[in-house]
Amino acid sequence: MKYAFVTRDDETSKKTALKIQQSLEKYFVYDEIDPEIVISIGGDGTILNAVHQYMDKDCAFIGLHTGTLGFFTDYQLSELDDFIQDVIHNEYKLFDRNLLEVKINQKEGFETLYALNELRLDQGLRTQTISVYINNVLFEIFRGNGLCISTPSGSTGYNKSLGGAIIYPGIPLMQLTEVAGIHHNAYRSLGSSLILDESQTIRLVSEQFQHASMGLDHLHYQFDDVESIEVRISQKTVKFVEYKQMSFIQRVRRAFINS
Ligand code: NAD
Repeated sequence: MKYAFVTRDDETSKKTALKIQQSLEKYFVYDEIDPEIVISIGGDGTILNAVHQYMDKDCAFIGLHTGTLGFFTDYQLSELDDFIQDVIHNEYKLFDRNLLEVKINQKEGFETLYALNELRLDQGLRTQTISVYINNVLFEIFRGNGLCISTPSGSTGYNKSLGGAIIYPGIPLMQLTEVAGIHHNAYRSLGSSLILDESQTIRLVSEQFQHASMGLDHLHYQFDDVESIEVRISQKTVKFVEYKQMSFIQRVRRAFINS
């Protein structure tokens, strides 16, 4: 099997990668160009980085967390030996995670980007006015700091901090959540989160998209002359390796209620 590392730039993560590489070299081939398994060593940000680097390849992702518990990572540093043993000797299952497809329509053409967690249009310094169309029908005119559209995987990230719902991963849904929406007699938008299935497309239109600034997972983009942004749950997914059955509910409990 061919594998590659994506490693966070700290001493612990780099030393851990070296130890794993020494253990795997008798069994597997290191191939950064065309890996079958991508091993992420670091945190959730490292997994996001790995996914953006390799999402166009036919590979699967697995994470080892070198800090406190990560949401995408099944192994902690204290389980390094189990991790190495599982990778060398054990069968694994594959688990598909949905991606968000984000189409940026500009005057001179369009660009399509993908996100594992979410798209964030979030400007705290000036009120944003964004018309929200769902399947080409005007749904609301939002005013406030911004909007977040997340996947089920991203529902436990920024979306959760905004008061959005947690969605069981693996279901092709997207969630639209407001960032500090203004709600009074003159301005009205839904207020609560809205969860939509794969048959729906959200189109966002705003005069402020002249110089649109957006966050996509750990990345930040700046576009000029944007006419609209279309978002849907993509047909494209990324595969995650599962050696051990870890209940999603237990993961949520451990991360947010009682570790
Ligand atoms: P980062 O990598 O420093 O991550 C910020 C925190 O979000 C970390 O604790 C990370 O473990 C956690 N996180 C990331 N994805 C998660 C997920 N799917 N479920 C649960 N926790 C998750 O920050 P960054 O590189 O700026 O952005 C990466 C991601 O971090 C974003 O996609 C966003 O979801 C999340 N984030 C959350 C907040 C917030 O909750 N206020 C703020 C910034 C970023």
